[in-house]
Amino acid sequence: MTENKYDVVVIGGGPAGYPAAIRAAQLGLRTVCVDNWTESDGSRPFGGTCLNVGCIPSKALLESSELYHRAESEFAAHGIGVGSLGMDVPKMIERKRGIVKQFTSGISSLFKAAGVTPLKGHGRLLDGQRVEVTGDDGEKQVLEAKHVVIATGSAPIELPVAKFDGERIVDSAGALEFTEVPKKLGVIGAGVIGLELGSVWRRLGAEVVVLEALETFLGTADQQIAKDALRHFTRQGIDVRLGAKVTGAKAGGKGVKVAYEQQGKAQQIDVDKLIVCVGRRPYTEGLLGDGTGVELDERGFIKVDDDCRTSAPNVWAVGDVVRGPMLAHKGTEEGVVVAELIAGHVAEVNYRTIPSVIYTSPEIAWVGQTEEQVKKGGRKYKVGTFSFAANGRAQAMQQGAGLVKVIADQEYDDILGVHIIGPMAGELIHEAVLAMEFSGSAEDLQRTVHAHPSLSEAMHEAALGVDKRAIHGINR
Ligand code: FAD
Ligand code: NAD
Repeated sequence: MTENKYDVVVIGGGPAGYPAAIRAAQLGLRTVCVDNWTESDGSRPFGGTCLNVGCIPSKALLESSELYHRAESEFAAHGIGVGSLGMDVPKMIERKRGIVKQFTSGISSLFKAAGVTPLKGHGRLLDGQRVEVTGDDGEKQVLEAKHVVIATGSAPIELPVAKFDGERIVDSAGALEFTEVPKKLGVIGAGVIGLELGSVWRRLGAEVVVLEALETFLGTADQQIAKDALRHFTRQGIDVRLGAKVTGAKAGGKGVKVAYEQQGKAQQIDVDKLIVCVGRRPYTEGLLGDGTGVELDERGFIKVDDDCRTSAPNVWAVGDVVRGPMLAHKGTEEGVVVAELIAGHVAEVNYRTIPSVIYTSPEIAWVGQTEEQVKKGGRKYKVGTFSFAANGRAQAMQQGAGLVKVIADQEYDDILGVHIIGPMAGELIHEAVLAMEFSGSAEDLQRTVHAHPSLSEAMHEAALGVDKRAIHGINR
């Protein structure tokens, strides 16, 4: 057993952990990042869920499938003939793997440049900020730290009635590795993963049925946007069944029989593959030794305060393993802020301006409160909306579906929430994020000059609409 001393030990090398380590090292702290991710081929990339089986690979497949779909259904309107269109799924998967590799190997270079020590192995917190790391050979070493940052992330929730078999009943990681387009695809959970991965395989020709337990579609989104989204997805052929409670899933040689109840009636569908994506749970297996003083909440998340301090001195926790949205950029921001606090700087995460993006087509993005939340909070508010159908750039792009919605305080005019469904919503939303970060008002957006023709003009017009002064829209 060897002993090593560090200022900071980060456990977990995903998008919360690796930026925490980099920032700590940038600030002159002696830092090690311990990570246990192992691929099926035995390789040990850093990057966690996001880079290996999450954000990056899913967006690679979303891009490929969108290009295929557009070639199939939109190119003709531009006068482009493509002859007979083909889809080489293994090649698409290979491209995705290449992108993942590029990004995961990039972390090693970033660690090197910043001076972070990478360490592959399983980390276990002992008492007194000591971390035991078990390597692949079973050899243990104890790292002594002034501060420990836990960033161990999350894992998919398994349904007892539809257990993963890795072949026919898969989690999101399995759904990123299909080698052919399933003829009929079942998805349990109409959340972010269900909609994104359902879209990928639908665009490539799969018949897709999504079973959602709740009666409300996309309950965390603004309901005007959610309703519009459901209309688009249904039109695309994604069959979303709300209020569907899955009671069993049986995999056989030919496919999966999925039983569910809807409005008290027993129903069944037969599918070739079934993706179960009903949320993720905090990952803390084998993490906490005796007497660490780190407490978990009733749902198994590590308890932290607003600055990500756990209940144990000098032990911090960030990312999916703590409360809040399970988003890579939320974890990254927490990791960076914790590194700065450890180094004695003043820093905080602004949880009110974390954007959400769903990378479907049309894309959905928002920041701040939904209209339902504002109403519930009892504040008087005003709303401006603008449709992409009246936006020149969107029409030139053949992407006129969707709208921008700006909600501002009736009296003070500060922006309370911005919601977009439409082309490049995930990029456009950052204008609103920045405006809200600077405590901006609807008038600030109104007085900002936007290039013509641009998709951003829809944001401008929606902001003008808040005060019934849209130029190209109808002011109601
Ligand atoms: P993780 O990324 O899970 O990383 C944790 C790391 O810690 C892993 O490498 C794990 O192996 C390691 N670890 C765990 N325990 C130990 C231990 N005891 N010792 C050592 N190492 C340990 N979010 C977005 O913002 N945008 C998206 O587009 C997006 N797309 C997604 C698509 C999919 C299909 C999925 C599944 C998720 C997606 N997410 C997206 C969510 C995003 O991936 C997570 O929010 C993010 O990865 C969380 O980062 P993290 O660092 O907290 O945890
Ligand atoms: P989610 O929470 O987004 O959606 C899960 C859905 O499953 C919910 O609508 C829920 O009501 C439903 N559900 C739960 N139990 C069910 C059951 N028994 N039967 C039918 N439906 C059931 O979770 P997810 O889609 O698994 O994604 C996990 C996390 O990953 C999310 O927190 C998300 O933020 C993150 N993620 C983010 C992105 C992105 O930012 N674009 C992409 C993918 C994943």
